Amino acid sequence: MHYRSTRGEVEGLSFEDAVMMGLAEDGGLLIPDELPEVSQELGRWRALGFPELGAEILRRFVNEEIPLPVLQEMLERSYRSFRDPDVTPLRKVGNLHLLELFHGPTFAFKDVALQFLGNLFEYFLQQRQHPLRILGATSGDTGSAAIHGMRGRQGVEVFMLHPEGRVSPVQERQMTTVLDSNIHNLAVTGVFDDAQSIVKALFGDLEFKRRYHLGAVNSINWARVLAQIVYYFHAALRVAPQGEPVHFVVPSGNFGNILAGYYAKHMGLSVGRLVVATNQNDILHRFFSAGQYHQASVRPTLSPSMDIQISSNFERYLFDLSGQQPAVVCDWMEGFRATGKLSIDEKQLAKAQAEFDSARADDAAILETIRKTHRDHGYVLDPHTATGVHAARTLDLEGPVVVLACAHPGKFSQAVEQAIGEPLSLPAELQGLAGLETRKHVLPATSEAVREFIEAHVQG
Ligand SMILES: *Cc1c(COP(=O)(O)O)cnc(C)c1O
Repeated sequence: MHYRSTRGEVEGLSFEDAVMMGLAEDGGLLIPDELPEVSQELGRWRALGFPELGAEILRRFVNEEIPLPVLQEMLERSYRSFRDPDVTPLRKVGNLHLLELFHGPTFAFKDVALQFLGNLFEYFLQQRQHPLRILGATSGDTGSAAIHGMRGRQGVEVFMLHPEGRVSPVQERQMTTVLDSNIHNLAVTGVFDDAQSIVKALFGDLEFKRRYHLGAVNSINWARVLAQIVYYFHAALRVAPQGEPVHFVVPSGNFGNILAGYYAKHMGLSVGRLVVATNQNDILHRFFSAGQYHQASVRPTLSPSMDIQISSNFERYLFDLSGQQPAVVCDWMEGFRATGKLSIDEKQLAKAQAEFDSARADDAAILETIRKTHRDHGYVLDPHTATGVHAARTLDLEGPVVVLACAHPGKFSQAVEQAIGEPLSLPAELQGLAGLETRKHVLPATSEAVREFIEAHVQG
């Protein structure tokens, strides 16, 4: 299997090159040439545990580039740090199945992919002569999951920017209490967008990027989407052993999580509706309900990890929606860059709506959903998951419904306590963060300051 770009100028890449390249060099996103068809395997896969199922799925995408026993061992190791023996267990809450994706080290779903990506980088870097320097900006969850995925790894060094004083106390401590010498937390005195534009500016300096071998871990990396495909299979095989269609409801921001469900469906998993749940930042809801992907300004909400106005993975879906025509994708993305607007015609909207539904929850709906679910079922939702439960209750879906539970409520305890009106007891790991030693470097929000820091601190 080879990988190519949605913009058509890059093709024939190996799995390793696709993972190491991150963003395609023509500005597009990397995708496999075709998806493997696995519907004949499902009966056999039902009995497999999470890492074994992962190996069956991933081997079809990594070609022979990683020997199967090595891949199996890598997955086994990636999920050993999870606190639940099922890795991504299901809980029945009323008539919904909640797929709990938050049992990894940083209590959010991003651990599922980033624990594996850390092992993958380490494996590929063993055979290369140079280290990889991860440069990224985070508003909270991605940074902490990436740092925990990469800490202590041979050949990988992380420079993670966050806006000083503007991530939640738990998120900040999850990052700054990691004292491994390959991890550098840079707190820049600005907002998230400043941190993000510094990273873009440094990636845009190709000479600097090559000299220091800069790489990315944000969700445009193909390996992150790939690792997430596994839990859709794992859940559907348990919820619907006879193979009846399962609906998936996914709290969405960058469209990375739900995209994995879309690929699972197109590999032959029996999936009913794919439901995009958004908060007030609803560009994806406006697209799937009215065909308008029109940029608006970001408003802060109780579900900050979904406060996004441009969904970085959406181009992969647009590629399929265009009938896999790079020229159409280039037109769309160029128009969107110039005007902040992308509109599709009625036929294309009908095609999108044949697979996707969407719904939007404002902060009041989020609080009410947390409160009611706690009152009626004794289950505490986090504010992101609440957008999904709200969507599931709004839409009329027949048959089994799985809502992806994206974070542990303790990670966003302020909003949750406001909703349920009582203190939340935090897991020991989150409570213990308060007493630990921390390390961060506070820098002015300029690319010069960050560049100088990297030049002065790179190892190996
Ligand atoms: C990242 C994140 C999301 C959004 O996922 P996307 O893949 O960006 O759509 C939702 N909830 C939580 C808790 C997250 O960390």
